[in-house]
Amino acid sequence: MLLAYPSLRWYDGRGASRSWLQEAPDPVTQVAWDGWVEVPRAAAARLGVANGDVLRVVSPHGSLELPAYVSDSLHPDAVAIPIGQHYAPYQTGRYVRPEAGPMNPLALLGSTTDPVSGGLAFLAVRVTLEKTGRRRPLAILQATHDQDQREIAQELDLAAARELELRGHAPDHANLPSLYPDPVYPNHRWGMSIDLDACIGCSACMIACQAENNVAVVGKPQAAYGRQMHWLRVERWAEGAADHPRNIFLPMLCQHCEVAPCEPVCPVFAAYRTDEGLNGQVYNRCVGTRYCGNNCPYEVRRFNWFWWEWPAPLEVQLNPDVTVRQLGVMEKCTMCLQRIIAGKDRARGENRAVRDGDIVTACQQTCPTQAITFGDLKDGASRASKLARSPRGYHVFEELGTRPAITYLKKVTRAPERARG
Ligand code: SF4
Repeated sequence: MLLAYPSLRWYDGRGASRSWLQEAPDPVTQVAWDGWVEVPRAAAARLGVANGDVLRVVSPHGSLELPAYVSDSLHPDAVAIPIGQHYAPYQTGRYVRPEAGPMNPLALLGSTTDPVSGGLAFLAVRVTLEKTGRRRPLAILQATHDQDQREIAQELDLAAARELELRGHAPDHANLPSLYPDPVYPNHRWGMSIDLDACIGCSACMIACQAENNVAVVGKPQAAYGRQMHWLRVERWAEGAADHPRNIFLPMLCQHCEVAPCEPVCPVFAAYRTDEGLNGQVYNRCVGTRYCGNNCPYEVRRFNWFWWEWPAPLEVQLNPDVTVRQLGVMEKCTMCLQRIIAGKDRARGENRAVRDGDIVTACQQTCPTQAITFGDLKDGASRASKLARSPRGYHVFEELGTRPAITYLKKVTRAPERARG
């Protein structure tokens, strides 16, 4: 049975011409820049196909050729195709998109209507799959959805969450000692909390960050090579049975570590710590050794491999408050430093201190579920500071002693809490 479903990124295809949306991977499959046909693992084994093998999907109303994406969780008797990719216009230059399917997947459905609603029947057509012998490798931006005991995206069950809340349990961070003296923050220490229970993986934060911070688009071949420039990515981690997993979405960005592994390895002090708790990056000083990126356990630093072009009228989309980086420079999340500066300037102009909520980062502003909260961790009454003290709070890889400024709040599930490894 064929399931042709609206894309999470461009619905029926109306947004498919936006390169930002093409480069943001689908939150579940993590495929960017292409259409695909999702095939259950058992069917893929029977046909002898792997990710990227081109299949011909044949229905009584037509046929369509798409690369296969092998799925562990799709119903064994279904194949699924996101619609709308074919609306993306052919583009030139660095934004080139590989061969597009010639036909709308909806055409495979024919004109059968649902008797109750009168709308197109989305689950009414049987299709067959044929191997073409060709390959069109997919750009899959996340190599695995298995946490492999790394406890990156954590969860706890509802009873445990209630118990911790009742007991007012403070998070148990592994604050390992450092060889360096503890930093002093005279005014603010900026930080963030991200509630994994609220995050639905929509990736709006990712696009907001890209738009706000002049983040370049690299196109399918470079994205497949791991050279995407996103300062913020939304990871999907699957827990439980492979055919019916519990998905945990985790927005990953620079953690602005208090003991940052990127800083001591920079030979020119381009990566440095500000006295407001940010991990700064001096673009003009960076000589592109990439030591910082290699030493970052969170893999959030991005290196510019190209001179970017912003052909007209794309240049008018650039944010004038943010430097446009070019070849040879390392970059990453700044917690929207330009917004922090503007917020402080506004407060100074009104002769008052910065108030909680004055400064809102682009990702926070755009998140439809308010999963992201930015604020001053030195202000015990700020929302970010209160959330950082939540019993559900934890730091990713806190056993490394990096002391991140970003606190994640564990997802609340019905499954038993996993023992910390
Ligand atoms: S915008 Fe909010 S809900 Fe959507 S992925 Fe980002 S954090 Fe999660």
